[in-house]
Amino acid sequence: MLAAMPPSSPNPQDRGEAHIRDRVRERGDACPGALRLHRADDGSLARLRLPTGVLTPRQVTVLADASDHLGDGYLSLTSRGNVELRGLGEGCGLGLADTLRRADLLPSERHERVRNMVVSPLAGPGVRTWAARLDALLCAEDWTTELSGRFLFAVDDGRGDVAGLAADVTLLATPDGDALLRVVDRTWRVSSADAPRAALVAAEAFLAAARRAGTGAWRVRELPAGQEVDVTRYLARAAIAAEPGPDAALPAGAPPPPGVIGDGTVSVLARLGRVSSAQFRALLPAGEVRVTPWRGFVLPGFPTRPAAEERLRDLDAVGFLTRADSPWIGVTACTGRPGCAKSLSDVRADARPREGTLPVHWSGCARRCGHPQGAWTDMVATGEGAYQMTVQGPTTK
Ligand code: SF4
Repeated sequence: MLAAMPPSSPNPQDRGEAHIRDRVRERGDACPGALRLHRADDGSLARLRLPTGVLTPRQVTVLADASDHLGDGYLSLTSRGNVELRGLGEGCGLGLADTLRRADLLPSERHERVRNMVVSPLAGPGVRTWAARLDALLCAEDWTTELSGRFLFAVDDGRGDVAGLAADVTLLATPDGDALLRVVDRTWRVSSADAPRAALVAAEAFLAAARRAGTGAWRVRELPAGQEVDVTRYLARAAIAAEPGPDAALPAGAPPPPGVIGDGTVSVLARLGRVSSAQFRALLPAGEVRVTPWRGFVLPGFPTRPAAEERLRDLDAVGFLTRADSPWIGVTACTGRPGCAKSLSDVRADARPREGTLPVHWSGCARRCGHPQGAWTDMVATGEGAYQMTVQGPTTK
């Protein structure tokens, strides 16, 4: 039964940042990784970071096999473009790590939880090179292991799709070939060649500010008021030429819509952010598979539009969302039962297609894990199959 309630006060996460800035964290983040598994009610969970978002065909096959042999046969996609395996049995951590290592999915075990990056899925080779270089730089430094598992980089090709995902450090390509480096509301212009190093230096400046503050901040927005991230000084120290950039908000662009894009790129979404291993394998053959932060996949490089359209039909037949007018687009859900002991209901089974224009998020309890940014319709379980509906986010202010 759905109980429609009047709009409530905003979710605490949308009430400005004072509550975050006042917080003193007593311990490090507990984010799961590929090596640090999280024990859930349905077995262990492994979260694999995919900093460039790109999987080779072999890696797709390896992950599908791992979900079949070690997990529950499904793969979940996160809002940061990562992949999770759930239902992992006791003692399979070593086997999983070995599998991922052999598939080149664990380039640095010490850094696996800090490789948090979102990249414009339709970006061309230049911006994709920034992301790969930034990842390599992250993995080459010891100090970067001090970043929390929540610190996020965004690498945007100028269309503004991932620039709007509230990353801690954002690189945005400019039309004239340079990069804007953004940290909260301050911007610097740097050369394309320096862009990956500039993003790394900004992270280093954040860590210095976090140490000074002594509050254990995991993210830039958690720093107490008055604690500036001194990016300018750190860029100068690293001999990176930078000039102040515009203070205006970064451009906001839409994510790739499902369907055929251009002449040869296929874009699909996963219903409620989860695919079976069989669906995952159905993404092949492909030159590469790009995992998106909108819980979908982009397959570039089809030789003709008809070839791309044929693949889109194949993916529709196995259950992917392939049309921009699907009522399931914009519907998300937390793990719910049976994976989460806190859940009051089987959220994924209860979730329904969207009515109205706002994104809808279904949660098994008031923590609302994985809820969208901005304004959204909030469905929170109050009991078995019963939900309270409110509108959350900026429209309630
Ligand atoms: S919102 Fe609640 S029920 Fe859902 S995954 Fe988070 S803690 Fe579990």
